[in-house]
Amino acid sequence: MLSGMIATLLAGAADTRATEAPRRFEFARTVMAAPMNLVLYARDQEAASRAAEAAFDRARAIEGIMSDYDPASELSRLSAAGGGGFVPLSDDLWRVLSRSQELAAATEGAFDVTVGPCVELWRRARRMRQAPAAAELAAARARCGYRLLALDPHSRSARLERPGMSLDLGAIAKGYAAQEALGALEKLGITRALVDLGGDLALGDPPPGARGWRVAVAPLRDGVPSLYLWLSRCAAATSGDAHRFAEIEGRRYSHIVDPRTGAALTDRSCVTVVAPDAASADALATAVSVLGPERGSALLDGQAGAAGRIVRFTQGVEEIRESARWKALPVFVPEPAAR
Ligand code: ADP
Ligand code: MG
Repeated sequence: MLSGMIATLLAGAADTRATEAPRRFEFARTVMAAPMNLVLYARDQEAASRAAEAAFDRARAIEGIMSDYDPASELSRLSAAGGGGFVPLSDDLWRVLSRSQELAAATEGAFDVTVGPCVELWRRARRMRQAPAAAELAAARARCGYRLLALDPHSRSARLERPGMSLDLGAIAKGYAAQEALGALEKLGITRALVDLGGDLALGDPPPGARGWRVAVAPLRDGVPSLYLWLSRCAAATSGDAHRFAEIEGRRYSHIVDPRTGAALTDRSCVTVVAPDAASADALATAVSVLGPERGSALLDGQAGAAGRIVRFTQGVEEIRESARWKALPVFVPEPAAR
């Protein structure tokens, strides 16, 4: 009887602690060669650190699988097996490649993770400040094409049809890792959290008492965003910002390639996408960059829960297009700074 009462009293004390206002914690590391930032609310430093380490570990594990730089990664080994038989995949790689192929089909190849040989050619071109020769580009294109990647859902395995092919998950892996890192936090009871992996955001529940996480929408003017969104339990990504261009003989080349021509994009554009999960947001932002404002916003209208804002600069003229669902997002427009 007495011990029963003590247990009740202790439970009461524990309840009080649990309802104490959670505190805000921030963590930063480098993962996938990008800054990875976490913001989370937890009851104490120990719970926060433990969850943060689990989130970073999860993202690093995905980096180990999906890196195209590391020849030992699962992705590189799959690429090296091009022209051979089916290769069984890990759960993570299966999920990312399945989603990638869905998007390749939905965009008629504007989004295409088999674009590796073309991306590699343009990487070299940017380093050497010289556009690739037509013959080189043709040879690279012969080793690209999402139809050359077969997935078998029964055995969860993949096959690349030709030798010399190479998969590049640069447009989806960071988003996937951000989402999985958020999942790792949630598993440890941390639901009010934000994961930012190189600009790909996975958002959990909002901070206590807040409407959502305040997310800046590019482009920046004079370093100050002109528009914010209040977001929670969804994801956001930006693609094609001006910083990732390189200039060759007076033309600006993006790190995004149009897989249908093999050419790097030259129009300056800035795409912000909101979607239910960060892998989708990341990939859709890249896809919309390739498709352009009109076809890009049509793509977003056809994807469950997706919305986007596309800013494109053509010969100095700015064109802005918002997809249908974008207009329903809660926006926040800051007052112009007082002079
Ligand atoms: P960021 O890395 O700045 O977030 P993205 O998410 O747009 O940019 O991804 C761009 C990367 O995706 C490129 O560096 C390249 O590795 C890869 N890539 C380029 N073009 C395509 C494409 N059309 N489809 C899929 N992946 C692409
Ligand atoms: Mg992307």
